[in-house]
Amino acid sequence: MKIICIGRNYAEHAKELNNPVPAKPVVFMKPATALLINNKPFYFPEFTKDLHYELEIVLRIVKNGRHVQPEFAAGYYEEIGLGIDFTARDLQDQCKAKGHPWEIAKAFDNSAVLAPVFIDKSKLDTRNIRFELQKNGETVQSGDTGDLLFTFEDIIVYVSQFFKLQTGDLIYTGTPAGVGPVQIGDLLEGYIYLANGPEKLLHCNVK
Ligand code: ZN
Repeated sequence: MKIICIGRNYAEHAKELNNPVPAKPVVFMKPATALLINNKPFYFPEFTKDLHYELEIVLRIVKNGRHVQPEFAAGYYEEIGLGIDFTARDLQDQCKAKGHPWEIAKAFDNSAVLAPVFIDKSKLDTRNIRFELQKNGETVQSGDTGDLLFTFEDIIVYVSQFFKLQTGDLIYTGTPAGVGPVQIGDLLEGYIYLANGPEKLLHCNVK
């Protein structure tokens, strides 16, 4: 399986990092070894001094396909999940300044936190999913998929031109504004809003 990630998919987040709003999706990948599942703790890596959380809606691909046409794209995912795209912002800034790839800043071990429970998409309006990250009980990110620059379907169409989608692949669809640093001892909790209120899907202790 592979983990496909979209960068700068919310205009307010692109602005907060002084990045231009992209005309096409910004795509990068993480290897399977980046996955951190079952709400296990995250151990702060020694190679960074500026580790950031990025809460994201995650799609799990349910069938194989390449060159997916727009009218079929919605059929490639059935459930909506939550994840954190942990980013070593100091390393990423160095990579960006040199025009180098981002992998050491984005694709390191355990950098892709994935909530254990997914929500069936029939329970959500996928164009208007509200989601939220709390750090130590305080809301730090609040997103709505209505603000996506590229919808879930746009992403599937775009990335499948380059990469064959396979069952079990994950797509991290980008983070809203409010990214920030984490420290040892922090508790991160991710929520999705269902019809009857917020549901906590994810928690992550930083150790
Ligand atoms: Zn991200």
